[in-house]
Parts: sequence; structure tokens; C-alpha cells
Amino acid sequence: MSSAWTVVVPGPFFGGFTYHLDRAGGPCPVPGVRVRVPFGQSERVAVVIEPVREKDEQETRPILEVLDEAPLLDERTLACLRWAAAYYHHPLGEVVFAALPKVLRGERRLEVEALSPTSAGRAALEEGAPRGERQREALSALAAAVAPVPVARLGPAAVRRRLVEKGWAEPTRITAPAEWPVPAEPGSEAAPTLNAEQQDAVEAVASAGDGFRAWLLHGVTGSGKTEVYLALIERELAAGRQVLVVVPEISLTPQLIDRFARRLAVRPAVLHSGLADGERLTAWRAVAAGTAGLVIGTRSAAFVPLARPGLIIVDEEHDAALKQQEGFLYHARDVLVWRARQLDVPIVLGSATPSLESLRHAWEGRYGHLRLTARASGARMPAIHCLDVRGQTMVAGLSPALLRAIERHLLAGGQVMLYLNRRGYAPSLVCHACGYVAGCPHCDAFLTWHRQIGRLRCHHCGFEQGVPADCPSCQAPLSVRGMGTEQLEDVLAARFPGFGIVRLDRDATAGKGVMADSLARIARGEARLVVGTQMLVKGHDFPGVTLVGVVNADQALFASDFRGPERFAQSLLQVAGRAGRAERPGEVLVQTHDPDHPVLRRLLAEDYEAVMAAQLAEREQAELPPTRFAGLIRADAPQADTARTFLEKVAEELRESSGEDLSVWGPVPAPLARRAGRYRFQLLLLARVRSTLHRALWQVDDSVGSRRLGGRLRWSIDVDPIDLA
Ligand code: ADP
Ligand code: ZN
Repeated sequence: MSSAWTVVVPGPFFGGFTYHLDRAGGPCPVPGVRVRVPFGQSERVAVVIEPVREKDEQETRPILEVLDEAPLLDERTLACLRWAAAYYHHPLGEVVFAALPKVLRGERRLEVEALSPTSAGRAALEEGAPRGERQREALSALAAAVAPVPVARLGPAAVRRRLVEKGWAEPTRITAPAEWPVPAEPGSEAAPTLNAEQQDAVEAVASAGDGFRAWLLHGVTGSGKTEVYLALIERELAAGRQVLVVVPEISLTPQLIDRFARRLAVRPAVLHSGLADGERLTAWRAVAAGTAGLVIGTRSAAFVPLARPGLIIVDEEHDAALKQQEGFLYHARDVLVWRARQLDVPIVLGSATPSLESLRHAWEGRYGHLRLTARASGARMPAIHCLDVRGQTMVAGLSPALLRAIERHLLAGGQVMLYLNRRGYAPSLVCHACGYVAGCPHCDAFLTWHRQIGRLRCHHCGFEQGVPADCPSCQAPLSVRGMGTEQLEDVLAARFPGFGIVRLDRDATAGKGVMADSLARIARGEARLVVGTQMLVKGHDFPGVTLVGVVNADQALFASDFRGPERFAQSLLQVAGRAGRAERPGEVLVQTHDPDHPVLRRLLAEDYEAVMAAQLAEREQAELPPTRFAGLIRADAPQADTARTFLEKVAEELRESSGEDLSVWGPVPAPLARRAGRYRFQLLLLARVRSTLHRALWQVDDSVGSRRLGGRLRWSIDVDPIDLA
């Protein structure tokens, strides 16, 4: 009889590897534990996936060591990881290791030193020994415990050493307990009385029972979605079940954690990449063990094991940050919907601007549709107006009408927020004499001028250079073209001195604590002007803001991606939602050269769902997602030919084998056709039926996997791509 196991290691391997256990005694591997195995000429840490039967030991190599006493990943989590690896066509080992906290990807054992009492120790205790109070305390604690006690709980080292020397206690090693503190003070803040829409939403979810059901909570900005979450979370915690809350951005976690902690009698466990490894490990284990009842995390928390799951919440479910854009290309929202079904618990997807995917599920009855149509505080939704900037004399990208509005709001005591989705000082430096534009030597892109640091920078590959004094080809002076947030900040600071200004973009908030500082300056009213990129769009609550200016709507309106209009509508409503959240009514001004653009018109005249319904009709017409299932195959190489011919061959094979059910578009150059010195091409696959798409993708995996790829070609599969760039 031999016993063998399939294990996975990180790396580009689609299957697992088989090893056997060649010694009797000692712990036996079970799925979800780590083992140390020989691998090629060296050794690796691997995770056991499943036992295999009838394997000849001669053919397999032995497991060297079992590293965990208990599985790190339970069976349901392992099943989810296996599904995700298959669905997203990504190597299982990569997926499994990505799901572990970093500390556990290596050999580190989850062990701590502990003591257990000996029979001599118990006898001594009964006879009134030891004399020393601290020794007696420690020994009593040992005798009272059902299992060995970690030394950290047993007083000073000298005391413990005495117990061992006297033969009253024995040192041993045990798996570190996964503990999670209960706050000393239960949540002190009272919940507001929910309004009718909020109550209906809570009631709908509650009355549907404990089992799987997906809900779309579509609530306008400030409508009190978080209060709905809180009410639902309270119910689950009271019933002894866990709640997992996933948000798209790290920067959204502190405010949510604060709010949850003030209200609920639990300390939320937090999981995001900004934590120290040790903190993350502690939180992860507490969730997996079920000692932590509430967990808030970013994307990767979608895979955390849950010991007693009750409810899953995805906030800002439309946000592209929920999709991982490199390596393992999963969408946390979609993974969580799958998981909710597997765990048989409800899932609530919340947003002021839901994705077309989720709206369609709601319209067609697959998801419950919960609507919050008014602001909870009673504040009115801001009025949105277009500013037609055709023929206007612009000052640094700002029309006279917008400048007047800024002045009016500042003088009336309001705060003003200006949204411009382009960082740096200017997106390009040009020569008016000869037409030279400073471009990246490695990408098909211009270099952005970052004036504060005096550098030209490529936003695609990170290339940097100094700023040339004049045109490198004709020596004429260079001038700036276009606007970035740095320039906007300069211009506004000069024009409205004394009002205080804060810039929120990736450059301005890079240092530790800078973001929090900036948000505090805005909250205290020290900064009355706020300039920023996409960062402004993300859920922050700025009650003093009365005017939001969208500096350049055209940039998004004319994006090449088929999701451009959807994204535009989402960003516009999200950034508009920052205005007038308190007593003072808000105003939103949108600068555009195309005030008659249908998306813009519909957004101003009707509502978000009307815009999205029109989008859905267009997508159906064009046979695009979400009415079709999509997969994108990307390839890049130092030579354009290598990447193109590779995809041409793939396309040809697919066209031969798949028939009419599958549309194969391309290959075409990627929107950014050259990046970091590599030429990029892509092939889009579309199918009416999910299984048709996956069959095609498996075929590609099989056929490419068996082929030798030369020319430093890289390729990848993106299932349900959200970004065609
Ligand atoms: P959202 O998550 O939809 O943006 P929040 O839950 O943050 O909305 O609520 C917006 C504001 O309204 C918050 O200041 C919140 O305290 C307040 N609020 C929410 N629900 C109520 C309610 N039922 N009564 C009074 N104020 C409320
Ligand atoms: Zn570049």
C-alpha cells in the first residue's frame, strides 16, 4: 500500500505534482497543509491538494516534511481556489499560494513554545507546592487548561524555568492559537433610525433567509448604504456568523473600520496589502479559525477561509480595482458571488453606480434589486450642468464660467473640488517650431512633465529623464500641451490665494500618512480647494464641498474602450456625489466640447439606469459583454512579428475548430501598441455560452502549452476582461 498526494507549488505549472510519504508515524498530510518536497535539484514548499490512489512509489519522490498540523486552507476554500484557477486559466499553484498570507508561503511553522503539566506537577499542586506565588499561579493555570499553554501566557521566563527544572512542567510546541481580541468597550454609537427604503432593503435580505441569494443594493451617493450593511452585519454577528466585507481600495478601509468599530461590539479583522506581514497573518488566521467575526479587506480577501460564514458584502461593486490587472486576473466580485453560492450565504453588492453586469442580473431577476433613491441625511442630490466650452477663452483648461463659479462658492464659504484625471504638470512637452514631442523611447506614449521633481516620466513603463532645456531636434524653446493636476493646483493657488489647496493624486499622496493628512486638512476646512484624479471619485465623504468641477469630460467620453460611456457615467456620478452632502446644496459643472453627447444628455435628463439600459441595448447590438462571454488573449514580444504571428496561429486554430458559436476578433495591436520595449497584440473571443468560451480557452492552453515559444514571447488569458488596453 502506498499513499501519495497531489501537491502544488508556485510557478507556471498547470497541473499538480505527485509525492508519496515514505515513513510511518509522524503527521500525515491532508489537503490544505504545507509540505516540504524535493523539486528538481532543490526543495520547495508545496500545498497538498488531494490524495491520489494507486500510484507507484517508485515513480514519485518522497515528501520530506509535513509543515502544518492542521490544514491552512479548508476544503471549501480549496475548492474555490481550484474553481478560480480553472475559470481564469491560471496555474493552480500560483492561485493557492497567492491566497496564503506571505509568512505562510515559506517554511515558517505556526508553532509556539508551550508548557504542559506533568503528573508530578499536579501532585505538587495538590500538596500545596510550589511556595512562590507566581510559580503556583503558573502551575495552576497549566493544570486547569485542557491543552498545553503557550509560554507567553505563563509569566516570566525565570518562573517557567523553575517549573521545568522541578519536573512539574514539560516544554512542548503547539500550533499557535488563532486569537482575536474582543474590544473592551462595545460599540458606543447608536444607529440612526433607518428610513423606509433602508428598512425595506434590510427586511428583504433578512426575510430571504440564510441561504444563497445575490442582491444588488443600488443606492445614490449618501443614501445610507453603509447603514444597511451595518444593520445586516449586526444580525449576522448576533447569530454567531461571520461577515466578509470587500472594498476596492485600501484608502477606503480606515473610515469603514472606524465606523464599524464605533457601532459594533467587535473589532474588525483587516486584510489588505498595507499591513505588516505579522498583522496580516494574525488577522487571516483569526478569520480562518472563526475567532474574528467581521473581516474587512481589499480584493485578495475574497479568498480568505471563513469558518462560519453568514454574509458577504462587496462595496463599490462597479469599481475596476476589484479586478486584478496583472498575474492572476480574477475579479473579486465575481469570485465572491461564486463563493456565496458555494457557502450558501447571501451576498450584497452595493454601489451608487452599479456595473452593467450586475444591473442586468438585477433587471432580469437573478439578483434581488434594492434601491435607495434619496440621500439619507435629507440633503438634496446636486444639480449637474454642462458647460459648453467651445469658443471659450480658457485659462489653464478652466472656462470663465467655471472660474466664476469657483469664486462664488469660495466666497460663500463652500469647498470646491476639481476633477481632472491626469496627473503631472502637463501630459506632453512639444516644439511649436518643428513638431517634436517628448516621447517615451520604450512605449508608444508621450512623456508627462512632472514639474515639481523636474522630470519627464512615462506613466506606462516608469521611464524617466531630465527636462531638456530646448527642442532636441531644432533647439527652439519647448512649450507645454495639455493640463495635469500639478498645473491645475499651481494655477488655482495663484488665482485664489489664501483659500488653502490640497491635491489628491498618486504623486501627491505617495508618502506614508500624507493621504490621511490631506483628508484631515480638507475635513477641518483648512483646504477649501481640492484638486485630484480618480482618487476623488472613491467614496470619501467631504461634507463641506458645494461645487464639483469636471475639468475635462471629453477625455472619458471619447475613450476607445467599449466600456468608456459606462465608466464616464460612473465617474461623473461618483465625483458629483461628493457635492452637497450636508446642509448646503451642491452644484456640479461639467466642461465639455460636446454638450449634445447622448450619454451626457441622458445622464443629465434622466437617470443612471436609463443610461445603462441604453448601453445594454448597444452592447447587445454589437454582441459585446455582458450579453456575450469574453476572453482576451494577449501576447507581447520585443519583435512585433513574434507576437502577431503567435496570435494569428491561435486565431486560425480557433476558427477551424470552434464554428459559429465563437467569434474571434483579431489579432489587433493593443491600444498601447508598444510598452516597455515590447510590442503588444490581442485577440478577443466572444461567445453566447460560457462553456463555448472556456472550451476554446482550454484548447489554447493545450495547444500552446505543448509548443516551444521562441522570441521571448509572453502571453496570457484574461477571462471577463474589463480593460481592453
Ligand atoms: P452611502 O454608504 O450610501 O454613501 P452612508 O451610509 O455613508 O451612505 O450615509 C451617508 C450619511 O447619511 C452618513 O453621514 C450617515 O451617517 C447618514 N445616514 C445614513 N442613514 C441615515 C438615517 N437613516 N438617518 C440619518 N442619517 C443617516
Ligand atoms: Zn514608457
